[in-house]
Amino acid sequence: MSPLHQSPSDKPGERPLAVNPFYGEANPTAGMADAPPKHRLPDRPLAPMTAYQLVHDELMLDGNSRLNLATFVTTWMEPQAGVLMGECRDKNMIDKDEYPRTAELERRCVAMLADLWNAPDPTSAVGCSTTGSSEACMLAGMALKRRWMRRNADRYPSREARPNLVMGVNVQVCWEKFCTFWEVEARQVPMEGDRFHLDPAAAAELCDENTIGVVGILGSTFDGSYEPIAELCAALDELQERTGLDVPVHVDGASGAMVAPFLDPDLAWDFRLPRVASINTSGHKYGLVYPGVGWALWRNADALPEELVFRVNYLGGDMPTFALNFSRPGAQVVAQYYSFLRLGREGYRAVQQATRDVARGLAERIEALGDFHLITRGDELPVFAFTTADDVKAFDVFDVSRRLRERGWLVPAYTFPAHREDLAVLRVVCRNGFSSDLAELLVEDLGRLLPELRRQPHPFTRDREAATGFHH
Ligand SMILES: *Cc1c(COP(=O)(O)O)cnc(C)c1O
Repeated sequence: MSPLHQSPSDKPGERPLAVNPFYGEANPTAGMADAPPKHRLPDRPLAPMTAYQLVHDELMLDGNSRLNLATFVTTWMEPQAGVLMGECRDKNMIDKDEYPRTAELERRCVAMLADLWNAPDPTSAVGCSTTGSSEACMLAGMALKRRWMRRNADRYPSREARPNLVMGVNVQVCWEKFCTFWEVEARQVPMEGDRFHLDPAAAAELCDENTIGVVGILGSTFDGSYEPIAELCAALDELQERTGLDVPVHVDGASGAMVAPFLDPDLAWDFRLPRVASINTSGHKYGLVYPGVGWALWRNADALPEELVFRVNYLGGDMPTFALNFSRPGAQVVAQYYSFLRLGREGYRAVQQATRDVARGLAERIEALGDFHLITRGDELPVFAFTTADDVKAFDVFDVSRRLRERGWLVPAYTFPAHREDLAVLRVVCRNGFSSDLAELLVEDLGRLLPELRRQPHPFTRDREAATGFHH
């Protein structure tokens, strides 16, 4: 009879178990002596529970993402989406060969978006997932630049021919990045009076033989308004008739490309307009997925120069990829497919309509308080901007933002760009998960603050830059 449990030391020469260094729990009293440095890799390991608690406790001060009315990015998903994302957190999007099903789900998402955005032939539209709209815009901008270079091979590169991209001054910062990184001149249409986004005729006027394209934004981050994409295309059609210049349009639909198809189906802003060459959206905004996933689509293969596309191994063959990153998580793409499957067109319509209803209702109630003037009403993107009424002298939008923060609400205040620097606004971004009940609480808190704000001798904000963390 041998004993049930025999000590390894009983067998001479047997190797002990291999212990993963992660398994070593420290002696509980030893932890009390630990004081890991903050900006240098600690010399010794910590017990996992200690390390977890240290990180967790520090993050408690990050604030509650659901009360963050500054962000466009999804802050709530169903638990099932969270489970799927957990299941896929080890999958690398680039390993098409190892994870062919993840690659297939990405392709289905692209096909669904091509159909949603009315590509004339969804099977010939091309597209890819990205880490967000910023990467998608870089890719779209590169395609525009490359196409222009091909058309101007006799003139570029040379000193005279410097490519430019036309856009409204209200563009998201990613377009300034694109122009800086890829050495393209940013030609910006200024704001004018009560026009807070691009004007089609003014945009066409800025175009010349070095214009690689015009960016139209479906939904401006400054005030949630849709730029007039169809009118922009018409102005460029007219330019072509007059001058022969054929300038393509890219639609930055970071937010709106996942709102307009459901709530404004008659608005032509997408591939229905022949001049629209490419479109991007942020899956992690109104695509309803946690950060970070974005999408870039081109009308057809002609719109995306072949030499920009690289190939990776896929089931023994090769698969085209277009991306700035190599490795990238697959979980968000899977979550996007889940949301598409889960909601369908009707579901997305219902979710976005509910969000728009909250935005419009909240805008009206804020207007009814009497101290504010609405710049937009939440009827395009579910986003609105408002400022203090003309007769309000005691406080400004920065005071309101700061006081709301005391109650836990993050409502950014910021100044508009060139030509309207005199205008400072507050902006509220409504998202799925910000219910009418929460909106009610916000109005109540704002109403409670107003008597104190009205009693101020003057606005307290001295340093407008430091007053708020708005980086749209
Ligand atoms: C948010 C946004 C971007 C940048 O998108 P990310 O997904 O955050 O990288 C670009 N353009 C517009 C209009 C946006 O609203």
